[in-house]
Amino acid sequence: MKKKVAVLGATGSIGGSALSVLGMLQDRFEISVLAARSRIKELAAAAVRFHAEYAVTTDESRGKELAAELTGSGVKTLAGMNAVNELCVSDKTDIVLCAIVGTAGLEPVMNAIAAGKRIALASKEVLVMAGEMTERALAANPEAELVPVDSEHSAIFQCIGDRPRGEVKTLYLTASGGAFRDWPPEKIAKATVADALKHPTWSMGAKITIDSASMMNKALEMVEARHLFGVGPEQIKVLLHPQSVIHSMIELNDNSVIAQLARPDMRFAIQYALTWPERRGTDLPRLNFADAVKLDLREPEPGRYPPLEFARRAMAAGGTAPGAMNAANETAVEAFRGGRLSFPGIWKVVDGVLEKHRALPQSSIESIRAGDAEARRMAAELVKKYGC
Ligand code: NAD
Ligand code: MG
Repeated sequence: MKKKVAVLGATGSIGGSALSVLGMLQDRFEISVLAARSRIKELAAAAVRFHAEYAVTTDESRGKELAAELTGSGVKTLAGMNAVNELCVSDKTDIVLCAIVGTAGLEPVMNAIAAGKRIALASKEVLVMAGEMTERALAANPEAELVPVDSEHSAIFQCIGDRPRGEVKTLYLTASGGAFRDWPPEKIAKATVADALKHPTWSMGAKITIDSASMMNKALEMVEARHLFGVGPEQIKVLLHPQSVIHSMIELNDNSVIAQLARPDMRFAIQYALTWPERRGTDLPRLNFADAVKLDLREPEPGRYPPLEFARRAMAAGGTAPGAMNAANETAVEAFRGGRLSFPGIWKVVDGVLEKHRALPQSSIESIRAGDAEARRMAAELVKKYGC
């Protein structure tokens, strides 16, 4: 029996890589659901190409447009987040691959956990906003499986394997350093959106590319790692690794360090999240050690990347604080992209929101959404204060 996969965020960067992987694994997997918010034509074309049973736009106002694109194709169309939620818990889905940018993945992922599905999780926002709640939900639904797609976390997941958690001393998250790795602070202060979008090693969606330049991406990943692997914040360290070949490492209690290496291509992590615990042969490119492979690793200069400290503050406060950090960053990045905030202004806004946010427990989706909304309001005020 083939496993049925729902791809949420199908028209994005990860969505496209997921379709490429699923195209290579058609003997084992079939695409039952493709969902996205926009780029309706691309969504429809992918649904036809991959013989999806359902194509869903979460934007209800575009449901008719999607239906018109797919008339006569045999693909069923739906619109709205409720449709996504229903399909993710139904027998149409064995695996939910969540690659929605922003916070909209929260509900479908929580529902899929409650329904005992496998979730291949790219959307880091879910674990940042609701990591404590996700840990509780997984404990209450032992048949559900949460397998990371984020490359660093996939690497750590692969390095840990079946080892008892007590043997793992440190998680080393590697960071490329993003577009401004070698820029002096005076130049970063004047960086444009086009500058921030030039990632040296990875090709990704716009938001995460900007987060890589600001190091907010690593801040989100520190929180993500904490909840995926049940470690304390002090066990998570970040290392700069410009080549993006070592995807992350773990240090064990006997001081051995184990790393996972592959080319910087998200399809490796996506494939493993689908096939785990099995390893499948692939046509994806090998690491070629005939080209001298250089692997530099160094600790980030103290003070250069404020987000590493933001993550520690957010984790120490717990509850809604990491979600507030994420919401503040999303608001600030939008303002930066709209020309209303300088690049270092992103850090100021996140810092200001973390300073003011009063963390509440992650007691329900509503309380998490309320913390997120409050942080966005505060961030919008700070954008006005620090804006250009
Ligand atoms: P992207 O901007 O390229 O694509 C985002 C996708 O999400 C699109 O299909 C879009 O239609 C969909 N979407 C946006 N809002 C939605 C909503 N409200 N409801 C439903 N769908 C919605 O983003 P991306 O770079 O593919 O990143 C997706 C997620 O994966 C992010 O959380 C990102 O942090 C994470 N991630 C990405 C990469 C990467 O290499 N791109 C690596 C690791 C983790
Ligand atoms: Mg990553």
